[in-house]
Amino acid sequence: MPSLTTRAAVARTAEDTFHWETVLLDGQGPGEVLVQLVASGLCHTDLSVLAGRLPTPLPAVLGHEGAGIVQAIGPDVAGLTAGDRVLLTFNSCGHCLRCRTGAPTRCTTYLKSTPLR
Ligand SMILES: [Zn+2]
Ligand SMILES: [Zn+2]
Repeated sequence: MPSLTTRAAVARTAEDTFHWETVLLDGQGPGEVLVQLVASGLCHTDLSVLAGRLPTPLPAVLGHEGAGIVQAIGPDVAGLTAGDRVLLTFNSCGHCLRCRTGAPTRCTTYLKSTPLR
């Protein structure tokens, strides 16, 4: 799917506020899925990033909780098709020691994200 624009709450710098902006979404890369959100939330993790208590590359679109419908699928994605209803949660690799021992919330890649361009 080609690039598209949408609206997002962008964290530009720590200890600031969210900025409601139009952002450009690239087409789906390997392992990526485009989801049309029907519900989303901001949790304490997001607010901790915004407060500068969790080191995270900024600017970023925070938020890791939501529900929606798959619109498009990038290469190397298995088990999903357009139209599937999905829940979103935080990023975890599934391979590190913490993930393999039942602690995906402590995944070593948890706070790594793709910075906004
Ligand atoms: Zn959360
Ligand atoms: Zn992991």
